[in-house]
Amino acid sequence: MQDITIQLARTLKEKPKDEGALGFGKLFTDHMFIMNYSTDKGWFDPRIVPYGPISLDPAATCLHYGQLVFEGLKAYRAADGRIVMFRPNENMKRINRSDDRLCMPEVDVDFAVKAIERLVEVEKDWVPTSPGTSLYIRPYIISTDAFLGVHPSSTYQFMVILSPVGSYYPEGIKPIRIYVENELVRSVKGGTGFTKCAGNYAASLKGQVQAEEQGYSQVLWLDGVDRKYIEEVGSMNVFFVLDGEVVTPELNGSILPGITRDSVLQLLRSWDVPVSERRLSVQELVDAHNAGRLDEAFGTGTAAVISPIGELTWQDTHMHINNGEIGPISQRLYDEISGIQTCTRPDPFGWIYEVGKD
Ligand SMILES: *Cc1c(COP(=O)(O)O)cnc(C)c1O
Repeated sequence: MQDITIQLARTLKEKPKDEGALGFGKLFTDHMFIMNYSTDKGWFDPRIVPYGPISLDPAATCLHYGQLVFEGLKAYRAADGRIVMFRPNENMKRINRSDDRLCMPEVDVDFAVKAIERLVEVEKDWVPTSPGTSLYIRPYIISTDAFLGVHPSSTYQFMVILSPVGSYYPEGIKPIRIYVENELVRSVKGGTGFTKCAGNYAASLKGQVQAEEQGYSQVLWLDGVDRKYIEEVGSMNVFFVLDGEVVTPELNGSILPGITRDSVLQLLRSWDVPVSERRLSVQELVDAHNAGRLDEAFGTGTAAVISPIGELTWQDTHMHINNGEIGPISQRLYDEISGIQTCTRPDPFGWIYEVGKD
């Protein structure tokens, strides 16, 4: 493995005193990780350096044609003070699948995880300790050739920045209102929906803004061809409990394969709860709701873990779910996953990666 050089910052920022006011993604730590790539050298010069602006040629291809992929994961302060991450190898495997789709170079999964671990170790005092807080980790790769041709770049930069984030539920878990988008689409089969590439999020903003203007917190996207089938919510995968069976859209190429989604499926199966990954139309949900068979709905993602859905609106139909309260399956999943993440519950699947262990 290549050596990671470390250049420490001369002065350190003051850490926030009130962890209740952290919010999400507004504050960054003192250092960041960078390594460069060129076609002849591969990945080289891995280094931890003081956090600060980077210099890019104004013609850099990432700024024009969007070769930019990212990941999102968290480091948690365990109940006993250790720092742990949740399935970080899965994030680096996923960044490689995104890389492949965007003609970008893959990273060595073990090395990239090691690099993240080293950075988190350097910044360990930034991992907040209050319940529900964590250190959000944002790895990303940009293309850097100064060239206006539409062609894959021959140089890239992999970076990792860290941001201490507050509890997603400072006032307890509260179900959200979701708007089913009928006109705009996020992605289509054959496109980039399964990747975490910047363009997907740029394309989602308009729907998100329109939903917020109407008082909803997120958009639920339908498939891009028929506008009939459920895909996912903003930055979360989505699950429904229909008559005791947990149903989530199958991975069809246009949905992001969430690591929380996968963890939820593994847990449910281990609990012998019936689950299915399949095509699910919004009409089927309306029918189930009218028949009193739509028991629960929830989103899954790294930020919130489990986000119960209390209301789902499709055109003129308002579906109110479980009296706007979190349901038993959603609650059990939330408790189990957040318990594993803070090491207050056993980790039978080996999902926990302890920082600074070896
Ligand atoms: C990141 C993301 C998710 C959730 O993935 P996790 O690995 O569970 O955090 C779901 N959908 C989209 C569009 C995302 O970007």
